[in-house]
Amino acid sequence: MPTPEAGSASAPRAARLTVVDPATGEPFDDAPDQRPEELDAVVERARRAWTGWRADPAARTTALRAAADAVEAAGDDLAPLLTREQGKPLAESYAEVARTAARLRYFAGLTADVRRIDDGRPVHSEVRWRSLGPVAGIVPWNFPLQLAAAKFAPALAAGNTVVLKPSPYTPLATRLLGSVLAGVLPGDVLTVVTGREPLGARLASHPGIRHVSFTGSVPTGRAVATAAAASLTRITLELGGNDAAVLLDDVDVERIADRLFWAAFRNCGQVCMAVKRVYAPARLHAEVVEALAHRAKTVAVGSGLDPGTRLGPVNNAPQLARVEQITRRAVEAGARAAAGGHRLDGPGYFFAPTILTDVPPDSPVVTEEQFGPVLPVLPYRTLDEAVDAANGTGFGLGGSVWGTDPDRAAAVADRLECGTAWINHHAELSLAQPFAGTKDSGVGVAGGPWGLYGNLRPFVVHRLREENR
Ligand code: NAD
Repeated sequence: MPTPEAGSASAPRAARLTVVDPATGEPFDDAPDQRPEELDAVVERARRAWTGWRADPAARTTALRAAADAVEAAGDDLAPLLTREQGKPLAESYAEVARTAARLRYFAGLTADVRRIDDGRPVHSEVRWRSLGPVAGIVPWNFPLQLAAAKFAPALAAGNTVVLKPSPYTPLATRLLGSVLAGVLPGDVLTVVTGREPLGARLASHPGIRHVSFTGSVPTGRAVATAAAASLTRITLELGGNDAAVLLDDVDVERIADRLFWAAFRNCGQVCMAVKRVYAPARLHAEVVEALAHRAKTVAVGSGLDPGTRLGPVNNAPQLARVEQITRRAVEAGARAAAGGHRLDGPGYFFAPTILTDVPPDSPVVTEEQFGPVLPVLPYRTLDEAVDAANGTGFGLGGSVWGTDPDRAAAVADRLECGTAWINHHAELSLAQPFAGTKDSGVGVAGGPWGLYGNLRPFVVHRLREENR
């Protein structure tokens, strides 16, 4: 399929961004490699488009509902392209397209409350909400479409315009999405820009940008915060996670094993809120390792375009090298691979689904974010020890507790230092919930009405009470 041009700001120069199919390791298409200087004109057009877009909330609602319909209608083009550049199984790409449309539809129907404050003084105040201006959306390569929608749906619903930058590893489906949306949204309300760094850094520091909404790793999040500080631009950072799953001593291992496995391995483990560490009672540890290792050894790994595939490749070569290195370091420190532990022979960025046991707790695969198909299972003796370990990293995105008594599990979940905790499942989110990590996992709140208000500023009007009589 040719790379679409409409809806994206195209580079006038010849430089292109090569896009590799992670299932083959071979380049298959390219996208413009835009220069940072090009952002000046893009942001200025977004600023001009803001004047009309912010003025008519009813027209916005209609346009965003039409946008949701258009995304759904383009599913047969978007999903295969997403699989090709990202690697995930085709069914998961279709699900991602559906979630992209659902987010547009959800935010299309949200409006900010106007609140009157009457506190007995001779004035009363009315709190209204105003849009900010051009918003930058910067997204990673693991869920290019749905994370893009997490940026642009609330920002557009609030009356802002958006400049969206996908990862250089996954620019194509986002460009096609931009093209689809250009057919239903007014011009320059949403612009997709693609290119290598320092394109993102320039976008984050651009003086015409009023809010930088970023999803990505902790180090890049720090760089974005520093860059945005130059223009005192508002930031929302959704960063990495190192979610723990704490299994209680009454857990039914066979009953939860499938759910636990997929909570860790969906999208090849490349999920910010995947289960990245399992803490099992020492008595059940061997049984948990065995149940997970069985699934890791038998799951169908392959190209996402193959209908039988459940687990695709790692998205890119540097990430594959990181997964390989973090696994090797654990094994060198005494860990044992109960399943996997190595790259798969043949082309493409495939890593065997890996279950690690006997892992030293200070090993990077426990303390850092592996972001790949590798899962350490650690034994614990007391529940306090497990909760301390679960809370013992710099991350605070999510966590889960698994057991037969859900109330007891919920009481343990209450002790987790994170933004979202799950009982007997993991990583399911509602569009209507606030999504925010604590500690290094983020700054600001996305999702639900909180996501809308994150793209608005309060505007307060005071009036003398007696003049209103
Ligand atoms: P990354 O931080 O390397 O890149 C994210 C985006 O930032 C990309 O578009 C990249 O091109 C851009 N970028 C790179 N340098 C930049 C700079 N100096 N200034 C501005 N932008 C810059 O992340 P990644 O490797 O693409 O994605 C994986 C990470 O994303 C993981 O850490 C994962 O946990 C995190 N993530 C978090 C969430 C969440 O909601 N909390 C969701 C998905 C992924």
